[in-house]
Amino acid sequence: MAKQLINKNILLLSIMLLGLQAVAVTHKELIHIDNIIKEQCNINMRDDCKLYINKDDDSINAYSLIDGRIVISQGIINTFNKNELLAVTLHECGHMVNRDPETVAYIAVHYPHIVDSKYYRHKIEYKADLFASNYFYSRCQHNYIYDAFKKLNKADWNKESNTHPSLNNRIKNIQKYEKFYVTKCKYINK
Ligand SMILES: [Zn+2]
Repeated sequence: MAKQLINKNILLLSIMLLGLQAVAVTHKELIHIDNIIKEQCNINMRDDCKLYINKDDDSINAYSLIDGRIVISQGIINTFNKNELLAVTLHECGHMVNRDPETVAYIAVHYPHIVDSKYYRHKIEYKADLFASNYFYSRCQHNYIYDAFKKLNKADWNKESNTHPSLNNRIKNIQKYEKFYVTKCKYINK
C-alpha cells in the first residue's frame, strides 16, 4: 500500500527511539514485527530492511523506500492491532523483496509512461499482497491481511486508484491463491 514510494523529505523516526504514542501496538510488538520483516527480507536476499515510524503522520499510510526503510505512519500504529500491522508491513516487505521501489524509481526516469500505468502499479500491489499472504498460509495461520483490509474499508480505502486496486479485487486475487494452502493445511492438520 505504498502511497508514496519515494519521499526523501519526510521525518523518519526509528522504532528504536522511545517515546512512541502507540495505542494499539506496543513497543515490544513493534520490535517483534521489525525482526520478522528483517528475517523475511534476509531469506529473500535483502539485508537492508528496517521498520520506521513517521510519528507526525496521523493518516493511514505505509510505503517502502529504495534504501530498505519500510515507513509506517503513527496513524497506522493507532489503527491496527499487532497482527494487522504485521500483515501491512509484510505487504511492504513484499515490495522490498520484489525490488519495487528501485524499479518504480528507474522507470519513472526512463519510461515515465509505464510508471503511470495503472496495470503496472496494480500488478505490484497484487504481488505484495501475495507475499504477505504467503507468510501466513505457509504457516497454516489465519491471513491477517483480510483483517487489515476490513479496517481499510472503514477508513475509505476501498476504492480503486491509479496506484492501488480496489480492496474487492485485492481480496479476489488472494482468494485465488489461498485455495492451494487451504487444501494443504487441512491435510497437515489431520
Ligand atoms: Zn503496496
